Amino acid sequence: MSRIIDPKCRLCRREGMKLFLKGQRCFTEKCAVSRRDYPPGVHAQKRAKVTEYGVRLREKQKLKRIYGVGERQFKLYFNEAERLRGNTGENLMVLLERRLDNVVLASGFALSRNHARQLINHGHFRVNGRKVDVCSFQVRPGDVVMPGTRENTRKMVSEAIEVNKSQSIPAWLEVQGDTLTAKIVGIPRREDVPHPIQEQLIIELCSK
Ligand code: SF4
Repeated sequence: MSRIIDPKCRLCRREGMKLFLKGQRCFTEKCAVSRRDYPPGVHAQKRAKVTEYGVRLREKQKLKRIYGVGERQFKLYFNEAERLRGNTGENLMVLLERRLDNVVLASGFALSRNHARQLINHGHFRVNGRKVDVCSFQVRPGDVVMPGTRENTRKMVSEAIEVNKSQSIPAWLEVQGDTLTAKIVGIPRREDVPHPIQEQLIIELCSK
């Protein structure tokens, strides 16, 4: 599994928007995008005009960074989105939303996407009662995601729920805070995806 190890706030500044990679910190005035609204680097403010190709490339990079996927994995998602029926851009967004690490984060069970990935990789989550330690696992309607039975695990998840209690839960998830379960009650639709991504630009770039 590839991992993006660049400093998170630097990625947001590079894209010129909040990618929400650091959990609750992203909603505070400590957010680097709010404080330094220009790209990182010594000559960043002198950058030349962005080309059409550059605009499309940046859109793809934003999406990859939001979901924490590398180029090779992204290509696989794109190929699958093309293969599926319907709009390729929407398919792509839905495939990324259905990742297990995204479900754990969207359910409020983790403090950030990286935290969700760490919990999954360390075997702290179950899908339909079976341990799943693969972040890219695709959930389906009817699946139930929950932490394992170890006291420490459940304590970590309960604490995350408490921290995230003001977070809104997408309509395709049904989360029970008392039993620490998230049931997938539908397939996410494009309008359920909270990120302001212009997927059409990505399709134009990747279809070439
Ligand atoms: Fe991005 Fe969050 Fe850092 Fe703000 S605090 S720059 S949204 S990772």
